[in-house]
Amino acid sequence: MHHFHYIDNELYCEEVPVPEIIRKMGTPCYIYSHATLRQHFRTFDDAFNGIRHLTCFSMKSNSNLAILRLFALEGGGVDIVSGGELYRALKAEVEPGKIVYSGVGKQVEDLEYALKSDILMFNVESTQEIVKLNDVAARLNKKARIAIRINPDVDPETHPYVSTGLKENKFGIDISIAPEQYTTAAGMKNLEVSGVSCHIGSQLTQVSPFVDALRKLKQMIKDVERTGIKIDYLDLGGGLGITYNREEPPHPEEYAGAIKKELGTTDLTLILEPGRVIMGNAGILVTKVLYTKSTIEKTFIIVDAAMNDLLRPSLYDSYHGIQPVKKSGRGTVTADIVGPICESGDFFARGREVESLKPGELMAVMSAGAYGFSMSSNYNSRPRVCEVMVKGDRFYTIRTRETFEDLVRGEKIPDFLA
Ligand SMILES: *Cc1c(COP(=O)(O)O)cnc(C)c1O
Repeated sequence: MHHFHYIDNELYCEEVPVPEIIRKMGTPCYIYSHATLRQHFRTFDDAFNGIRHLTCFSMKSNSNLAILRLFALEGGGVDIVSGGELYRALKAEVEPGKIVYSGVGKQVEDLEYALKSDILMFNVESTQEIVKLNDVAARLNKKARIAIRINPDVDPETHPYVSTGLKENKFGIDISIAPEQYTTAAGMKNLEVSGVSCHIGSQLTQVSPFVDALRKLKQMIKDVERTGIKIDYLDLGGGLGITYNREEPPHPEEYAGAIKKELGTTDLTLILEPGRVIMGNAGILVTKVLYTKSTIEKTFIIVDAAMNDLLRPSLYDSYHGIQPVKKSGRGTVTADIVGPICESGDFFARGREVESLKPGELMAVMSAGAYGFSMSSNYNSRPRVCEVMVKGDRFYTIRTRETFEDLVRGEKIPDFLA
């Protein structure tokens, strides 16, 4: 469910016509629906009712402060992957006790920052990281709560770039050696071993890999607890997929139901780290047609947004729906929708049947809320675009468009070149 719909052939976000937003904000522009975000968060979180749990929004999918604040007000925590994300989360007043920190390459300064901030838990991913974290915590006279991130070796059957729980992936600690890591960590003075975590991949469209991973983790927890180590938290990561095109991912109710069933009665607190399932269909990227051109082979629609604004099609060959903001009634064309960047990989769709649009007309790239703005860059010296949140019949700027001055901020010409 989302709140992007047509009234009289014009695209609306909630009660606001998209062209009205664009008249004020210009293009390209990300638009998010507040009602959709809140509903997605509640649907997901409520699906786990009946079991002690904490929903930690995976903020790498979208780290805008307004969005983090929204989920914080809903009682959510966040899953962070860097010191920068911790800074954003604290700015948005996410409770430190609801922050979990994942990632294979946490740096010393970031470990210090997170320890001083008293976050809930570090999901540690290697033996060396365990040692490093203990050292840093000792120096600060603190105790770090940790969960060991397990690589359960299950196939999420998703795009290889977003598969993270296979033996060959860089993530986590191999499940076969995990119990000895628990023993080692439990013997370290400045660590408090309190959890198990895993995250097997993204855009999963079946529940079975999640259940398989959970089954393996349950067994491992038993083995570990037999050695006298108490596990309080079970972090199952994120990864639930969404419909971009024709995928039929399980509803959060079904996902939660399968997990609850496999888990049975337990005194563990479950942590979930959803990103895409909450954000993906809650946002669109609106772009303007600049030119159209046809060669013998192809028709190109050149728009003002580009791969630096939304990288997913270029990076993963992902599908995004392309919709006219005003239905023209002119019929369709089969075209490549491309951006202005000097790369052949700069496209949003190829060989796609879309409504015939003329220069100056607006197009919406759908399902762009997750891994859209957060993956954007300044490539080709393009200022990053603005972001808007719609609530009911009003809209709010939640990030202004960057200026040319922003592009060169921090750069210096040394004296010898003056
Ligand atoms: C990226 C990531 C998530 C979120 O994944 P989604 O597919 O967006 O739900 C959760 N946990 C970790 C550790 C991640 O790296």
